[in-house]
Amino acid sequence: MPVVFTGFHRKREDRAVADLGNPRNTIEIIQRHAFVFQKKFGQNFLIDTHVLGKIIRAAGITERDFVLEIGPGIGTMTQYLAEAAGHVCAVEIDRNLIPILEETLADYGNVSVLNEDILKVDVAALAREKNGGRPIKVVANLPYYITTPIIMGLFENHVPVESITVMVQKEVADRMKSGPGSKDYGALSLAVQYYAETYLVANVPPNCFMPRPKVGSAVIRLTCHREPPVKVKDERLLFGLIRASFNQRRKTLQNSLSHSPELSVTKEEIAAALEELGLSPTVRGEALTLEQFAGLADRLTDKKGLADGLHI
Ligand code: SAM
Repeated sequence: MPVVFTGFHRKREDRAVADLGNPRNTIEIIQRHAFVFQKKFGQNFLIDTHVLGKIIRAAGITERDFVLEIGPGIGTMTQYLAEAAGHVCAVEIDRNLIPILEETLADYGNVSVLNEDILKVDVAALAREKNGGRPIKVVANLPYYITTPIIMGLFENHVPVESITVMVQKEVADRMKSGPGSKDYGALSLAVQYYAETYLVANVPPNCFMPRPKVGSAVIRLTCHREPPVKVKDERLLFGLIRASFNQRRKTLQNSLSHSPELSVTKEEIAAALEELGLSPTVRGEALTLEQFAGLADRLTDKKGLADGLHI
């Protein structure tokens, strides 16, 4: 993976580039480089030093940490991360930002920039090569159009990650941290909570960004579990059940699971498993906890070795 550049180290007081958290400095850089914002890349740059400080503190960055930043933009948060971390690797898709990053990060010897699409980067290999396989910290003001694939990609590819502290759309943060009974509870809540503990750091209004996004934002910290909170015989089946349950969330579990093309399970088998778990035959997926989904998955596995009948 070609590193585009690595800065060189200077003392903080010698830094040539002013704090980009100050909107005036961001405007100056953008105008001087005639940078044009690309909507398709979800480019909304942070221009609030208070929020930046909060993110760095919530992530608990120390000089022992290797930090992966996804989408550094013009390098605003990268500068803050570089001040606190041992090493920062920033992955940016937009090649028009690379000359700007070369300028704004030139003072930092502990930053490397990759001009890549994060969804195509083998982050587990990166952690192995650059951090000896030790857990890394991920910190980002994420491009909102790919929030879920980025986060689920880190989890499902078993990247060694200690924590993920990210700015996301407010509505997505609400979905990640919700439990049964909430309108926001769904497949994303269960998937995220299987892998991590969630903590809402702050809600962030649109005026903290340039340009202003049309939606509210929030910073959420996901602290990865060493072991999942539930143990299941077949993880693939657990996630297949969760997906099928919320694909048609107003239907009863018996209906949504028995009609799912992803699963081959009858209404009778589901009814028997629900009864064994002490759940109503008309219960909906939105009422089940992660533990109950795990119980359901294990009972269905026992009943007919359902893992073989799961078509994903
Ligand atoms: N970190 C900067 C900040 O806070 O000001 C910019 C954040 S902006 C919301 C998202 C950044 O992610 C943009 O710089 C955008 O170009 C970049 N980006 C979008 N899609 C990406 C992808 N697939 N891989 C890597 N970077 C991406």
